This record gives sequence, structure tokens and C-alpha cells, in this order.
Amino acid sequence: MLGLMQSQQLLISTLIDFAERHHGEGEVISRRVEGDIHRTNYKEVAARSRKVANALDGLNLAFSDRVATLAWNGYRHLELYFGVSGSGRVLHTLNPRLHPDQIVWIANHAEDQVLCFDMSFLPIVQAVHSRCTTIKHFIALCDADKLPADSGIPGLQSYEAWIGQQPATYTWPEFDENSASSMCYTSGTTGNPKAALYSHRSTILHAFSGALPDALNMSARDAVLPVVPMFHVNAWGLPYSAAMTGAKLVFPGPAMDGKSIFELIEAEKVSFAAGVPTVWQMMLGHMQAGGLRFSTLKRTVIGGSACPPAMITAFNDVYGVEVLHAWGMTEMSPLGTVCTLKNKHLAMDSADKMKVRLKQGRGIYGVDMKIVDGEGAELPWDGKAYGDLLVKGPWVISEYFKGEGGSPLVDGWFPTGDVATIDSDGFMQITDRSKDVIKSGGEWISSIDVENIAMAHPAVAMAACIGMKHPKWDERPIIAVVKKPGSEVSRDELIAFYDGKTAKWQVPDDVVFVEAIPLGGTGKMQKTKLRELLKDYKLPGA
Ligand code: ADP
Repeated sequence: MLGLMQSQQLLISTLIDFAERHHGEGEVISRRVEGDIHRTNYKEVAARSRKVANALDGLNLAFSDRVATLAWNGYRHLELYFGVSGSGRVLHTLNPRLHPDQIVWIANHAEDQVLCFDMSFLPIVQAVHSRCTTIKHFIALCDADKLPADSGIPGLQSYEAWIGQQPATYTWPEFDENSASSMCYTSGTTGNPKAALYSHRSTILHAFSGALPDALNMSARDAVLPVVPMFHVNAWGLPYSAAMTGAKLVFPGPAMDGKSIFELIEAEKVSFAAGVPTVWQMMLGHMQAGGLRFSTLKRTVIGGSACPPAMITAFNDVYGVEVLHAWGMTEMSPLGTVCTLKNKHLAMDSADKMKVRLKQGRGIYGVDMKIVDGEGAELPWDGKAYGDLLVKGPWVISEYFKGEGGSPLVDGWFPTGDVATIDSDGFMQITDRSKDVIKSGGEWISSIDVENIAMAHPAVAMAACIGMKHPKWDERPIIAVVKKPGSEVSRDELIAFYDGKTAKWQVPDDVVFVEAIPLGGTGKMQKTKLRELLKDYKLPGA
């Protein structure tokens, strides 16, 4: 017997319809490439998304055709999120921080038909357009009068002229909710990048679960600042969850420095912000230097790489902002776990609470997890046993776009490439990326643990731990350190700083001071690059 409920496909167009009807006045604020602050609301975004859909129809794009963006977080990008997917095309967010050759490779692999780009990326588009063999239409996200006369890009149009003539009425098509809605290529640290191809259904379910109180806790009373880019894993689904809840959206545009982010949080009364640790590091540095305080920010979700304890302490104890440590990946849309405490944790003293907060958190509904040993046997949830972390759920990939790399699943589970523990309350903690774990004398050393201790030293701005070949121990950890401007610390002082904080054999053998640690397109430390930079380095005594 079937249930007797109405059957409605879970489509992205329903989000913007809902936001328009129930939260029409809900604000969408953007710092623009033009430098000013732009103010609009869900009603206007909805109307302009429908114009986008009409404009795409005008280009005779077929169902599932890819429309690429090369854009910061802003209202025009948001309109494309809804207009492209809502009309049945696939939104392909390109990462402008990639090397131009990689952008060309990815655009050709995705067979993009249209490219919409912010004017900051005009030089990239000028450099790559002739090699992007499938793109037929180039749209600059600007007013008609800002379009350069001689860009050299054939048929270049301004977005405002392109959608300006279109009607704001459009009937969103109804189709199978399993249809592709958007795509994002993984960072591709090994081999060619591979794409996760999200569906309408996976996106809506992910947005539902992400908005729950024990996940990101989004509501119409929130003003949300996604510092995480819309060009990478859909800004952790925040644009969708915000439309679903009517939360005010505040977009930082290209201004990601500590000062600009802090000023935007204050000016727009942001209550909730999301970003990777490197962004918050810059903002906290700016605040410390100027003795600044937040007046409205209540919580911040930090993920993408491990959040150092010093950062959790700074947010919690100094600024009264709750840190939600979160973990996920491109292949998971991206949310997998969020570290929200249970009742039993609230009475803990602050040291024990910190131990819990440092974990990446518990699975949100929809994501199942397990850890396995080298033979694939499941390990206990005791907070001690560590093994390869596997996940499954309706917003986890089943395979990559075009079947690239073969089937990634093992008995229906997706291997994340992370090594983790899970405790009896279901809190998962990443020990390491499996390729970054340091194997020393038959034991594993977590590079994250080694980094976290160094990052707690007042003179350290950033620290990255890598393993170096060792004749006796196989590998030994060393730590590359960037000092805070104007601060001093010696190698021996830093090594001594580890005393009593970790087992002796986990203390790094050496410290290498560097000007900067290479960061990838999504703000993560690139340990492969760091290893290349230190290829001539010799371990003391090795
Ligand atoms: P994203 O850029 O969304 O983080 P990627 O697919 O580029 O997605 O990277 C995913 C990987 O990033 C994870 O497999 C994990 O190694 C790392 N990662 C993400 N969040 C965390 C976290 N909170 N702590 C430690 N590592 C994390």
C-alpha cells in the first residue's frame, strides 16, 4: 500500500519560490567587485533568477547543459544558483584560484556552454577563452556600461543587459528530482580533478539537514555570512539553507581580508559566519591588533581543515562566540559532521569540554559513518581505535562525473581518505588525511596534533607538520612554521614547548622557519607543495 501524500519533486526552484513568498523582504547584502555594498532581498532575487532562466532559454540551452561561473559570493551568483539549476541546467562553479590551465581542463571536461564571470576574473577569461572549446557564450557579471570595449572575448555581454530585457515571469519546469543540479571539481591534489555531480534531491536534503539545530541551526532570525566561497561545494549549502529558512544573507565579495570581514559582520549585524581556519586566523589577527570586539556574532562554523584549539579558545573565551567545528568534503555536498555538544557535555569543566569541541563532531541525520582497519573490518566506537573513515548517505557521491576514476565505493560506502576515531557518543575526530599521517617506528603520529600544539605558541602564525624519511624510524615529523610579524621564537624554544603536551616520540625532530606555507585553491595547506619545497632538507641525525 502506498501512502496517500502528494508527490512533489524536491527541486531547487522550490527554495527560491518559498523564500520569495514567505521571506520576500529577507535581505541579501553583497559587497561587490565594484567596491560598494549592494542591498536586495529574496523577492528581487527570485524575480531576477526567473530572468536568468528566460535568458538561458534564449540561448537555446538544453536540459542538463552546463553553465559555468567564475565568481565571488554575491547576489548575481545567487541568482545564477537558482536560475540555472531551477531551469534544469547544471550550475558548474569553477574555482578561480586554480591555475588557468586547470580551469581550461575542467571547463572542457565539464563541456561548459556558458561562462558567467566577475570582472575581477576578466584577465583569467582573456587568457583561457580560446582554449575552452565548448563555451559558446561569455557573460560578464556587471552593468552594460562597465563592459570593456575591447575585451578580446567574442560576443561578450554584460549580465545586466543579458537579463535586463527578459520578463520576470517564468514557470519553473517540473522534472525528476534526481536530475543533476550543480557540479564541483575536487581540488585534485593527485591526478586530474574529478567532479561531484549534485542532484536537486541531494541538494534539498542536504539543505534540510544542514539547517537543523544540531547542525548549523539556521533560522529567519539569523544574518548569515558565508565566507566559504560559492565557487567551492556551493558554500557548504548555505545559500540553499538560507533560502529554506529565510535567513538574511551577507556576501563578502572579493574582500576576504580580516578588516573587511570584521567590518561587514559589524555593519550587517551578522549572527552566524562560516569559513576555513585560515580566514578566521586573519580576522582574529586584525581584531587582536585593534582591540576590537563583536557586537552581534554568536556562532561560527569552522571546517575544511582542522580548527586549531587556540582558535576555539579565542572565539569562545575572548569573544564569546560559539565555534562549531565541522567536517565534510566535496564528495559529500559537503556536510558530514558538526560538533554540537550534548547535554552531558554542558556540565564538564572547560578542559574536558575543549576535548569534545576539538572533535569534528557527530554525524548529521542522513550521513552514516564507520571506521575500518586495514582489512576492512569495522572498528569500535570507543574514541581510541582509529582507522579509515567511510561514509554513506543521500548526499554522498555514488561515482564521479563521467565515471572518472572508476567506482569509488567499497560495499556501498565512500572511503573519505581520512583517518579517524569515533567515541561512544558518536563524535568523530580526524586524526589525519591518510596520506599525511606520519608513520614512525610502527606507530602513527597525527600531523594535526603536532600542528595544533605549535599553533598554540604565541609567536606562531601558521604551522604545518610533515613526515621526513628516517633510516631507523621510517618517518619522523618536522614542523614548518611561519612566525607572527614582529614575534620571535627559536627552534629549541619551540621544541621545548611540546614538553608535557604530547608523548616524547610525537615531538617533531626539527623546526623549519618559512616565509609562508603554500595554500591551495580552497585555503588549505598544500603539504605536497611543502614537501617539494623541502626536498633538499636533511633530518638532524638522519
Ligand atoms: P572541502 O574543501 O569542502 O573541505 P575537500 O573535498 O576539498 O572539501 O576536502 C575534504 C577534506 O578536507 C576532508 O577529507 C578532510 O581531510 C579535510 N577536512 C575538512 N574538514 C575538516 C576538519 N574540520 N578537520 C580536519 N580536516 C578536515
